[in-house]
Parts: sequence; C-alpha cells; structure tokens
Amino acid sequence: MLDWTSWSMAAVLALLIVWILYAGLPDLLYHILCIGVFTKGFGGERRIALTFDDGPDPRFTPELLTILRTFGVTATFFVIGQKALQYPELLRQINEEGHEIGIHGFSHTHAWYLTPVRTFREFRDTADAIERITGTRPTSYRPPWGMFNLFTKWAGTAVGATPVLWNISTYDWRKGDQTALIVRTIVKKVCPGSVILLHDSGGASNAPCNTLQAIQEVIPFLQQLNYDFIPISNMKQVSYTYKERYRQLNRIWIQPLWNIWEWLFAKLYKVEVIDPLMRLSINRWQHSNISDEQGRSLIGKGDTVAELHFQNDFLRSLSSEDSSERTAIQAIRQMRKSLHNLAATLQHDPRYKHVKAIYGVTLIHRGAEGVGFHVADIPNTLGNRYEKLFLRWLLILYHPQGAKRLQKRTHLLVPRLVWMSREELFNQYLQAVPKQKQHKQQGAALH
Ligand SMILES: [Zn+2]
Repeated sequence: MLDWTSWSMAAVLALLIVWILYAGLPDLLYHILCIGVFTKGFGGERRIALTFDDGPDPRFTPELLTILRTFGVTATFFVIGQKALQYPELLRQINEEGHEIGIHGFSHTHAWYLTPVRTFREFRDTADAIERITGTRPTSYRPPWGMFNLFTKWAGTAVGATPVLWNISTYDWRKGDQTALIVRTIVKKVCPGSVILLHDSGGASNAPCNTLQAIQEVIPFLQQLNYDFIPISNMKQVSYTYKERYRQLNRIWIQPLWNIWEWLFAKLYKVEVIDPLMRLSINRWQHSNISDEQGRSLIGKGDTVAELHFQNDFLRSLSSEDSSERTAIQAIRQMRKSLHNLAATLQHDPRYKHVKAIYGVTLIHRGAEGVGFHVADIPNTLGNRYEKLFLRWLLILYHPQGAKRLQKRTHLLVPRLVWMSREELFNQYLQAVPKQKQHKQQGAALH
C-alpha cells in the first residue's frame, strides 16, 4: 500500500505531466518558439502593422480611430467578443473605416485556465459575433497574453483563423506615464515587417491614454521614414515566403559550405583562376577521339587537355531575374574577353604547354558556337547522368529563379560537351597573332 506522501507525490507528478502536455509544451512551441505563428512580415518592404488588443472600448477606441483617420493609417484590432457584443456600433465603425478585426478571445481568459470545450467556445463565439456585426469573418487571432494551451491552435483552425503574435511589445498596459517609453521602444525596434503590439483598452487604469499619445508621435515619424501601415492579413501575404526562407538558408548554410567545397576542389584538382570568369584544371581527355574535317586526329584519349570551370560570380551574373537578350550579349562579351586571357595563359605558361584543347561540360552552351567552341552531345552514361543532376543543382543554387527555371525549359538544360582545340583558340583569341595567320583568317572571313 502506498502511504499518504507517496500518493501526494504521485498526484503532483501527474499534475505536472498534465500541465506540461496541456499548457507548457504548447506554449513553448507556439508562444515562445512561435512555430507556425505569425510574428513578423517580410523584411524586404517598408511595411508595418499596428495591432490594438482588448477593445473595443468607448473611452479610447473612438479617439484612436480619429487619430488613425487623421494620419491615413490602417491597423488591426484584436477584439474581445464580449465587448464587441456590448459595443457593436464601435466594431462596425472599425470595420467601416477600413481596419481589420481579429479574435482576441470572448472573455480574455488565460489559455491555461480554459478547458478544451471553453477554448473552442471562446473562438467560435468571438468569430460569430464579429461576423454578425460586420459581415466579415475574421481570419486572424491572438490569444490573450499570447498564451496557448493544447487546443488553442485547433480552435483557431476550426473558425478559419491563423495565429498572430508580435515582434515589438510596447508594454503600454503599465501604469504611470509610459508615453516616452512606448515611443522609444517602437522607434528603436521598428524594422520592415514589424508587428507592433498596442492596446486600446485594458491594462492599468487609463493606460490606453499613453498609447494614444505615443502613436500620435510615432506615426508621423515612421511615415517620414516611408513606412506604410497595413492590416495584418496584407502583412501575412507579403510574409516570409518560401523564397525568402530559401534565400536565408542559402546565405547562411548552402553558400558557405559550397565555398568550402569549391576551395577543396580547387586544391585537389589544382584548379587555377584565370580571370573573374574562368578557372582551369589540367586533365586527360576521357571522351571519344576528335578529328578535324580532313580526318587528322585533333584530340585522342589520354591527351592533355584543360577543363574549364566557370567562376560562381559569373554564373550569378548570367542569371539576372529577366534573363533577357541583353544579359546573353553581355555574357558572350565577357566570355570572349575571358578566352583572350585563356589563350595568353596557355601560350605563356609552361605548365599548359602540352594542352591540346580546352573543354567543358556545361548546361550553358547557348552561344558557345558563336565564340568558337564546338558543341557535342555526351553519351548518356551513369557518370554523365550524375553530372547532369549536379549541373542542374548548380543552376538552382545560383539562379535567382532557382527550381522554377528548371521547370521552364528543361529540354534546353541538357549538359553538352563544348570544346576548342589549342590552335583554334590561338587563331581566334591571341592578340599577337602571327602575320601569316592573320592573312589566312581574313581570307577565311572573305569566303
Ligand atoms: Zn489582451
């Protein structure tokens, strides 16, 4: 038999487990870590959202609406269902003046004190009240104090609303004259995409007076900084898209890791930088033999050749958002310049004395013939298939449109072998072309 102490220990433990599951864990996930909870918009645009909780309140909301109207600012009101039913004309006015209305709960009860059934009721009753009065169903909710229980998110989903917290808390509910502090907090912390938490009711007595005073100073200041004030659902639309997340991931992880890999690769294969566009490594020719028109062997298996690698910055410059004709022309111009540098290196550097040809396997073969390369298909071997995947991945990595680019014109994105013999390179790109050859070239051009 268990004694009294053991029973109470077991009871405390059980309560603790229940609390962790019902309150602690959901609050950690949604309130503290904000997983799946909107707290801040897209950082690329100078847009912010002012949000006012706990209203509507006949003492403060009308004045707040006047201030917002004066400055031409739209905001979001997370209202309490009970008060909405009490002051329907205020709710209607908020709606008619173009502001957005969200759910803040029916009775402003802390989520941890709500049973599952009441959690659902708080949401349903508030959403119904808002819809009945304004004709619009709310799409956002902010639970009181930003607190969640195990059912808060389900209850929100059940009424068709998503959670919104904030990234700037102004503590405007405190007692005393907080005006200067509210102004300072906003001015110090504001950034594009900010969601600012304010109150038009509740808190210490007359606390919203501070809020009203503060926003009259803050709004014109932020307008001077070209900030636009938008309702929360507009902010959600320009929120962190997957593109921005991908770019962040790219900047923080993929690019640095890739740079390390590139550095290792360069060391391992003795890749040498020729210019900002091209790098070079000496290789043995692995592809099938290549002969000229007269049947003379130009490159045979095992011959010394130089493999070309584009520099990443060049790839980036190629992939401007609107990959227009102009970009292509610029790329070809850069390529010609680079081939001049390459020819000079091959001529003067004794390490490249035996290089019979330059070549590359690339997806970017459009225009390669125009600058003097021969373009050939590569056999569909397993190794080549890997290379194809790898090159496509590179394109995703460097192209701003990323994977979308691959979907657009996949049939063009087949890697091909581009090559040019040493003689051809020298003929076309050496500045100090021997006189005899110059004549020959001019003659050839006349034909
Ligand atoms: Zn509140």
